[in-house]
Formats: sequence, structure tokens, C-alpha cells
Amino acid sequence: MTDSASSRARQTRIVHPDVELSPGFESFSTPVMRASTVVFPNLAAVRAADWRNDGQWRYGLHATPTSAALTQRLAQIEGGRYALLQPSGLSAISNVYFGIVKAGDDVLIPDNVYSPNREHANWLAHDFGLSVRYYDPMIGAGIAGLIRPNTRLIWLEAPGSVTMEVPDVPAIAAAARARNVVTAIDNTYSAGLAFRPLEHGVDISVQALTKYQSGGSDILMGATITASEELHHELKRARMRVGIGVSADDCSLVLRSLPSMKARFEAHDRSALALAHWLKARPEIAAVLHPAFEDCPGHAAFKRDFTAAGGLFSVVFDERYSPAQIDAFVEALELFAIGWSWGGAHSLAMPYDIASMRSESQWPHRGVLVRFYVGLEDEADLCADVARAMAAALG
Ligand SMILES: *Cc1c(COP(=O)(O)O)cnc(C)c1O
Repeated sequence: MTDSASSRARQTRIVHPDVELSPGFESFSTPVMRASTVVFPNLAAVRAADWRNDGQWRYGLHATPTSAALTQRLAQIEGGRYALLQPSGLSAISNVYFGIVKAGDDVLIPDNVYSPNREHANWLAHDFGLSVRYYDPMIGAGIAGLIRPNTRLIWLEAPGSVTMEVPDVPAIAAAARARNVVTAIDNTYSAGLAFRPLEHGVDISVQALTKYQSGGSDILMGATITASEELHHELKRARMRVGIGVSADDCSLVLRSLPSMKARFEAHDRSALALAHWLKARPEIAAVLHPAFEDCPGHAAFKRDFTAAGGLFSVVFDERYSPAQIDAFVEALELFAIGWSWGGAHSLAMPYDIASMRSESQWPHRGVLVRFYVGLEDEADLCADVARAMAAALG
């Protein structure tokens, strides 16, 4: 303790303690560094601070050592160089819009896109002077014919998060690059484990860390990952201007889950495939929409570009069942909860009215679609639960 410190009032010494953190303590957990204000050693350091430099700490909202530990790992998983965290997957999507496009720009979006992305884009088109057009997700290299001089951004999603068509990502990315159009992919489905879009020519990968990265159904977080310094800076500037960030506590929970993500993903993948095969053989089911199945649109691209599928797939029920019967089936399930946000240990089921969600491409099925998320329960119990609910609701 210095002389001046020892003469201070007790209250001041509570605010300015003379505590040394125990040297020699080590553990596997990442320290939680909460911060609003980041403290600078002197004013020269304040004036030299450059927001572009990820190695400098400026403000708790922008980054802390805890968030940096997470962004570094996310960039590694996807084979990128930079990552930014946002408070939800949707805000990561929003960050892409506000970082990359301005009024008058044109944006192309796959018709099977995650619905809140469509809602966001339509809002920007209606109120902020953006041109927004939807394309058939199976368009492949044909996207070149849709690119206009003012096209700035092309979104991709692989596969579509409800209907599971797998686009030809390298073909779309190449057509975009040839015309200097930025590509962003919603890569939440594969968690960056089973598909690495940056290696297929995509500029920005978006993750809802809410899903597999969290793994506990208790965190909301998103990320943008890129290998381009220029795009990283554009996203980072927009993120600062909008004033979004994440808590170190939430980052530490995601960091705790990340080492087990691959093992969990593989378990989800195995169980989902088992349930999908079981459903395929059932007379109640008209189609199983799983990218690993040969009749899934884009199956060839899936086989070429992906290493696994994870826990998510959909089925289309035979058209003889009414939407009310399918609702009764979903409500009769005991092990599958009704909810949207997947990626945790618990299985989920949700019916969707796909025809009302599209504007550009034809939806070929007439029966009701139910999306399943297969959690970490025992496979045989899940199949038995579905069989029981079918018997109860569908006769
Ligand atoms: C869940 C999800 C999001 C959004 O994530 P939130 O954290 O819930 O905002 C975006 N895209 C896809 C494909 C998702 O499944």
C-alpha cells in the first residue's frame, strides 16, 4: 500500500482497493471481464485509439477480453479472420444490412430465407429506400441474370431453415464475385462445423449462436464472420453506430459450450437421420425434407459441400390430413416441445404454412409441413413418441 492510499477514507478504499489478484491461479474457464468503461493509462492512449484495431480496447460495448476469446474461436471454426458478436442471430443479420447496404442499393434474397430476415428486408425496402428482390434458392449460376448495376448484397441460406433446399453456394458466390457483389450466408444450420462457406467464396458468414454454440437454450447471441478486413470494418462501424454489444457473462456461457459443440452436433445428426428414416417409411408422411436424402432439392450440393446435417429437418404430411389434425399431432407429442429456437438438448416440433411464406418460387407440396429439431434424447423414445402422437391425432 502506498502512503497516500493508506491515508484515504474507508469508502474510497472500497472503490480503489489495494488488492492483488492471486498469481499462480489457473483454470480452464475464460475469465468474465465485465466492462462498460475501458480505462486508458493516459490521454495519449485515448487519442491514439483506433476503432479499426481489434487489438485495442476502447469501450465495453465494443469488445472485452471475454468477447475476444469467443470471436477468435468463431473465426477459427469458420476459417475466417474476423468475427463480431451481436445480441441475437437476427441482430447479426441486421448488422449485415446496416454495414453493407445504403438507400438505392439492390439486395437479392433466397425465397426460403429465415422469415425474420425477409421481414427485416421488406422493412428496409418500404421505409429506407432499398430495392429487395427474392430468388428461387435453386437458381445456382443463374443468379448472374438477376444481378443489376446497383446490386450490392446477395443473401444465401444453406439449407433453407424450414424447407431444406440446399443451394449451389459456390456457383452463386462466384457469380456475385464476378460482379463485385458482397455475399452473406446464414450458416446457422451447420454451426460452421459441417459447412465452411468462406472456403466456397462467400464473404460473410452469419451465425445464430443462440443455437448449437449456446447449446443450452438459454442464450441469445449472433455473430458475423469474415476473412475480409474491409468488410469486417464496415460491419464493425455499423455495429458501433447502432450501439449493440453482448455481455461478458453470456460470452462465457457460450465459451463453456463450444468445446462440446462438435460432439453434440454429431449426436444430433445421427438421431435426426434415424428419425427421418423412420418417418420416411410411415404412410402418414408424403415427403421427408432432409438434405442427406436423395430426393431433397440440392442433395448433390449437400453431398459435395457438407460433412453432416445436424438435428434439423422437416416432413410434409399426406394432404389427407387437415391443418387442424396436424396441430393435434404436434400438441400430442410429449418429448417434442413447441418452440422455435433449436440447438439445445430438447427436441422440438413446429408446423408451418409454407405457401404463405414465399413470393418467388413454387412450393410443390400440398400437405402440412412440420419441422423437427432432434435433441439429445434417446432415439427409440423419440420414434415411439411420434408413433403414439400419430395414432392419437391422425387415427
Ligand atoms: C434462430 C435463427 C436465427 C436467429 O437467431 P436469434 O438469435 O433467435 O435471433 C437466424 N437464422 C436462422 C437460420 C435461425 O435458425
